Amino acid sequence: MYIGRFAPTPSGRLHLGSIMIAIASFLDARLNNGLWHLKIDDLDSFRTKQKHIDQIKAQLNELNLSWDNEIIYQSRRVERYEYFLNQLKKTKKTYICSCSRKKILEESESGVDGFIYSGFCRDMNYKNEENNSIRISVNDEPIIFKDGLQGEYKQNINNEIGDFVIKRSDNIFSYQLAVVIDDHIDKTSHIIRGSDLLESTPRQIYIQRILGFKNINYTHLPTLSYRGRKLSKSNGDNYLIETQPKNIWLFVLKLLNQTLPARNSSLESIIEFAIKNWDIKRIKQRRFIEIDDYIRTS
Ligand SMILES: [Zn+2]
Repeated sequence: MYIGRFAPTPSGRLHLGSIMIAIASFLDARLNNGLWHLKIDDLDSFRTKQKHIDQIKAQLNELNLSWDNEIIYQSRRVERYEYFLNQLKKTKKTYICSCSRKKILEESESGVDGFIYSGFCRDMNYKNEENNSIRISVNDEPIIFKDGLQGEYKQNINNEIGDFVIKRSDNIFSYQLAVVIDDHIDKTSHIIRGSDLLESTPRQIYIQRILGFKNINYTHLPTLSYRGRKLSKSNGDNYLIETQPKNIWLFVLKLLNQTLPARNSSLESIIEFAIKNWDIKRIKQRRFIEIDDYIRTS
């Protein structure tokens, strides 16, 4: 069965890029008669605010993006993460790392996604988890997967990332570990998300394989930028999100290169049309979309 999901971090209102991901994953799930889950990535309580969760729910409701089942909250799954962390520990692939951020900054080369960890603590055999992070050791075997939009992607985690953190020194489970466990628990079959997560996918596949979880179908959509800058919540980017839901839908369908419904259709009929005509293959293969031209012509 097709099970998709949308997993925002509640650190602000959804910007247009996140809305595009929500719409694309929703349409793909609906066309395939699948389920579409809403999962709130609220593990980091400093960044999470109830206000933002309420805003996100309100935005999705306004856009008629109705999710299936109860909302999933990562913060309520800490025991599950702990369980699977213990499974990983049993494989002897995990170790405690006491390196400070400063040390890593000073001593590491940059890779495809931050600094490449040197493996400094791998054989140190530290015992004290408190205030230290837990890493998983990786190997030299490249991870290759076929992305639904970006094509074949290959990464040698050892050379490009290094042993990576699965539990942070502030005791919060890392995104890489939590997301893998979530998708296992939720039986997610298809993930549609932003291309900014393409580089982290091999790490997730690596953990999936160790834990014996099922393969997932990945599609990484282009990231949006405006005036040469990536759209982001922290920059307060709110281009277009305050216009009518109908107009947001039409604009996003245009960005996704889909067949467009008549401009004067109702929101309900736009969505109905969009589901019926959804063709993920029409999305152009690229990592970024500059929305400037689209804004000018809409
Ligand atoms: Zn270390």
